[in-house]
Amino acid sequence: MTMTPIGRGDADGLPRASESCPGCGRSDAVSLPIPGERSMLSDGRIVARPLDKLRCPGCGLIRHRHPPDAAEISAIYSGAYGLPALTGTGEQFRGKAYASAILDALGKPAPDLRILDVGCGSGAMLRALSERPEAGSFQLTGIDPALPAALAQADGRLTLLRGFPDSALAGHGRFDVVISINTIEHTSDPPAFLSTLKALMAPEGVAIVVCPTTEFANDELLFFDHFWSISPAAMAGFAASAGLRLISRAGLAAPLAGFQLFRFSGEKSASAIAGEQPSSDAIAYLTAWKELDVFLERQIAEVNKPAQAFGAGQMAALLRAYAPRTFARLKRFLLDHPEEAWPVGPAVRYDGQNTLDGCVTLVAVHPSAQDVVAARIRGDGGMAVTLPSTIQH
Ligand SMILES: [Zn+2]
Repeated sequence: MTMTPIGRGDADGLPRASESCPGCGRSDAVSLPIPGERSMLSDGRIVARPLDKLRCPGCGLIRHRHPPDAAEISAIYSGAYGLPALTGTGEQFRGKAYASAILDALGKPAPDLRILDVGCGSGAMLRALSERPEAGSFQLTGIDPALPAALAQADGRLTLLRGFPDSALAGHGRFDVVISINTIEHTSDPPAFLSTLKALMAPEGVAIVVCPTTEFANDELLFFDHFWSISPAAMAGFAASAGLRLISRAGLAAPLAGFQLFRFSGEKSASAIAGEQPSSDAIAYLTAWKELDVFLERQIAEVNKPAQAFGAGQMAALLRAYAPRTFARLKRFLLDHPEEAWPVGPAVRYDGQNTLDGCVTLVAVHPSAQDVVAARIRGDGGMAVTLPSTIQH
């Protein structure tokens, strides 16, 4: 992973977002708190400009004040892009969870369905689907411009292609089910992306789109490469622009809590989703991140001992981006599996008291696991510092 900051250091001359909300057309967007001088991509890379997002009070859509231009988007999705966890057991686990969510969304599916996954990543979800007996008759195709060459395959029921749909799928016909998981929020034009999905759907086909939820503010707000946080009302607006009908929306259960699933048909009638009042806790959430460095530094300073962290994944990378003074105090990172550490600093295998003595340990794991990890550290005789309770997701 490169550590070269991308993006530009100041906002002068950056393109500004359109005045009117692309979800609902309103032009009275509210500025969200800016949690620091720089921001972060979801793979941990630093972006050398602040996270400066707007929230539409009408539909709840959150977008950049200064959308990235073509050169910045190209830098984000160049060869350096890729979540470090794209292989291994975590990826397989997520693939199985998404396969279950897709089967749930399909209800009682007809046999011989032709299924396409646009932005399939490593193909883990399709591979998991291919192993499910309910999907035994399905023809499965995945496409992703970043599919590792070694994972491309075209045999039996599973085809994985590297490329973009408009070129690489020529001759493949249309699909009964077009799926896209955690991709639309990375696109520069969501209605155009939905139009692409529609063009790939058979006349009676359905589209299934998964993206981060907006029911509660969560860490996805902090990723610069999430160009949009898409509320149900905003998704209904995007669908109307693309000539799709939004049929249903559901929040996903653990282990996929924090994500939502939308189903669309190709009919042109009005969406079945009414504009519900979206959550507005993004302001409180980003304020907590803006104040995080002061909050954590004060607690670590009070203890007056060398500081280290438990965890070296996405949360540690978020602390590097948004709590840089606290991060600079961390001399090493404890993990149960140091071989899975992101490149944030020296990684050491956690060994209870032996690795806790004489230090204060910052709990640098996802908010949902903070309490469990803090209890473990204290149970092993260590001192733990946790995130504030205002950061719950
Ligand atoms: Zn709006």
